[in-house]
Amino acid sequence: MRDSIDILKSAGAIAESVLAPSAEEIDRLATYPTDGLTLLGEQGFWGLTIAPEFGGLGANLLTTTQVIEKLAEACPSTAMCFKMHLEAINPMKELATKEQADLFLRPIAEGTLFAGVAANEPGRGPGNIASLAIQGQAGNFLLENCHKSFVTSAHFANIFSLLAKHDPETSDITSFLVNRETPDCLVTVENTWSGLGMRGNDSCAMTFSGSIPKSSLIDKVGGWRDIRSFHVPFVFITYAAVYLGIANGAFRHMIQGIRARHNSPSNVSEVVRRHIGESRVMLEATRSLLYRSASKVDEGLSDLSLCMASSVSADETALKVADTAMLLGGGGSYAKHTPVERYLRDAYAGRIMVPQDEQTKLNLGTSSLDTV
Ligand SMILES: Cc1cc2nc3c(=O)[nH]c(=O)nc-3n(C[C@H](O)[C@H](O)[C@H](O)COP(=O)(O)OP(=O)(O)OC[C@H]3O[C@@H](n4cnc5c(N)ncnc54)[C@H](O)[C@@H]3O)c2cc1C
Repeated sequence: MRDSIDILKSAGAIAESVLAPSAEEIDRLATYPTDGLTLLGEQGFWGLTIAPEFGGLGANLLTTTQVIEKLAEACPSTAMCFKMHLEAINPMKELATKEQADLFLRPIAEGTLFAGVAANEPGRGPGNIASLAIQGQAGNFLLENCHKSFVTSAHFANIFSLLAKHDPETSDITSFLVNRETPDCLVTVENTWSGLGMRGNDSCAMTFSGSIPKSSLIDKVGGWRDIRSFHVPFVFITYAAVYLGIANGAFRHMIQGIRARHNSPSNVSEVVRRHIGESRVMLEATRSLLYRSASKVDEGLSDLSLCMASSVSADETALKVADTAMLLGGGGSYAKHTPVERYLRDAYAGRIMVPQDEQTKLNLGTSSLDTV
């Protein structure tokens, strides 16, 4: 088994040698980051969180967070695709039967199955699902109306974590892992992706229809309620890791740009140094909060409020630091002479994607009234 220092060293090397050099082109052409993701698969990272008994690296949540952070600093698009892959496989990684471990976990760890998340639906706000998966007599599930608004890695992923209800009258949600090659299931990608930021993400609308086998079912019908308890903290934390990485990248390029324009720190105006200091405070506070949240999950003391706070803090830090980097980079940054404007556009996805900050703040405020 590889230890976390070794895992982080490999992730850093991939980030530096492959992700960072291709990030500008991926963004400019909105191409999917196939090379970086394939290399991550070859080096075992698709199975980063999977237990060693199934061929995975068995990394804990803190190490997973730090890997995603490193990748995002180099190329946010690649890191978001990778984070979505880990998110998609997380329920199955915890609850796989022996058959599912052979069908899914081992191939993922070998780098032959990559995953996407097919959860959110068009115009329904976070968490509202209309997709149906009705169980047939043979134990299979018939998919109806499974239309998902944005699925990162839509063309590239082989398997998708799909959320659906088993009955139109219920609010209970069931979780599946669906192979796009399933013979009786038609998986369609409906558009191409050209976003403001995260331009390498291939986040397209998808439709799933037809029949999927019982082996696609995670846990049990209506099992999402139980899955949520361990999965939601994972979603918040890995999401925050991407945005912390973006903040790191914007900060580093801001410092490099200012250094290149001034011979020594004393030549840099006080106003500029103060802005740098303010960004540094936000970065360090967010990093401490995020690592603490992840460590608590690893210790079995998961604290959802800390996870939610980490997610909002990372989104706001990424936007604020990238905005400051643009301000201090001046015309050169606005004219795209540095990658700062790319980090700023990528950071904006944090305002839009679920978990949405507004909803998270509302939930955090409500739970504070109950518990503090
Ligand atoms: C780059 C990118 C990648 C993504 N990748 C994935 C993915 O891999 N898998 C996936 O499942 N989804 C993904 N999404 C979808 C994302 O998480 C959101 O669900 C989606 O962006 C919301 O857009 P919408 O137009 O469907 O929102 P709508 O539901 O139409 O809502 C529009 C806005 O109205 C507000 N709103 C509406 N209803 C509510 C409500 N009930 N409560 C609070 N606010 C509300 C929100 O501010 C929301 O942003 C991705 C999105 C982006 C931008």
